[in-house]
Amino acid sequence: MRVLGIETSCDETGVALYDSDRGLLAHALHSQVDLHAEYGGVVPEIASRDHVRKLLPLASHCLAQAGLQRSDIDGVAYTAGPGLIGALLVGASAGRALAVALDKPAIAVHHMEGHLLAPMLEPEPPAFPFVALLVSGGHSMLVEVKGIGRYRLLGETLDDAAGEAFDKTAKLLNLGYPGGPALARLAEKGDPNRFSFPRPMTDRPGLDFSFSGLKTHTRNLVLAEDDDPATQADIAAGFQRAVVDTMAIKCRRAMVATRARQLVIAGGVGANLELRATLKREGEKHGWAVSYPRLAFCTDNGAMIAFAGCQRLLAGEHTGPVIEARARWPLEQLDAPGEAA
Ligand code: ATP
Ligand code: MG
Ligand code: FE
Repeated sequence: MRVLGIETSCDETGVALYDSDRGLLAHALHSQVDLHAEYGGVVPEIASRDHVRKLLPLASHCLAQAGLQRSDIDGVAYTAGPGLIGALLVGASAGRALAVALDKPAIAVHHMEGHLLAPMLEPEPPAFPFVALLVSGGHSMLVEVKGIGRYRLLGETLDDAAGEAFDKTAKLLNLGYPGGPALARLAEKGDPNRFSFPRPMTDRPGLDFSFSGLKTHTRNLVLAEDDDPATQADIAAGFQRAVVDTMAIKCRRAMVATRARQLVIAGGVGANLELRATLKREGEKHGWAVSYPRLAFCTDNGAMIAFAGCQRLLAGEHTGPVIEARARWPLEQLDAPGEAA
């Protein structure tokens, strides 16, 4: 089955073609980062309008890249939430309209299920059951995954998401927007041990996260210290180490609690090289397999939506002829494919 995947939940327009026999055939992405940079954050109306401009050209580009016609598409998958409602409605409307025009089924995909399944696009996909550390711009969760749609939330953030903490801390260091990747680059040049940082919520049991105290700690440090480049790099490195350590401690606890042998890291912060290296080492030490998506599929993309949608379409599931999107949509509300009430 060949599925066209559409992602428009935030500030990236992503389109991809996934074939259940041959794998990923094509993918294309347009990032709106430059459009939003001057505002220091995503402006929802600008995001929606740009998705309108970019979506169909990207879809044509994907078809051309794969050497296919629209009539070769067997189903359409689009992100229906969670995310910015106007942005989601662009993808949902276009996806639904394409499906009607082609007389093919369409499926509404949960954005975080997309992130969670993204490692399955890689050559050695993780096997169920596993624990997933889902860390992105809007979410930080630990999830027990028994199969597609069989998710149990083990822990989540009580305040900022991990990516949000990276972005806000980067702003304090004048690294622009979104600053997560820039902060990670600066951290490479710094000494993570020069300043001490807390490891939030690791001194008591539980699998929830909290990152806002870490951000406040960093703000106080930035105000108290000189703003020479070496000090800035040391602060960035100390912050990153604290976030990564905290996530590693929680992952270890989640693996013990569930007795899982496979850990999956996904979402934009999963592109952080120190996080990837640290969890790989943890896996080697404790005998678990650790999987993550390729760097480009950690952040938002159409490939993960095409893949997740394809799994559900193959199981005979599809979404009725309505254009619906949800700004909020708890991951735990999903059912296994074909089991929807
Ligand atoms: P959500 O998926 O929760 O709806 P989102 O789609 O906006 O949020 P993603 O696209 O998955 O989030 O990820 C973007 C986030 O990842 C940003 O906060 C960004 O700073 C962060 N990020 C990307 N690369 C890195 C990196 N190398 N190190 C740390 N953070 C990173
Ligand atoms: Mg984004
Ligand atoms: Fe995302």
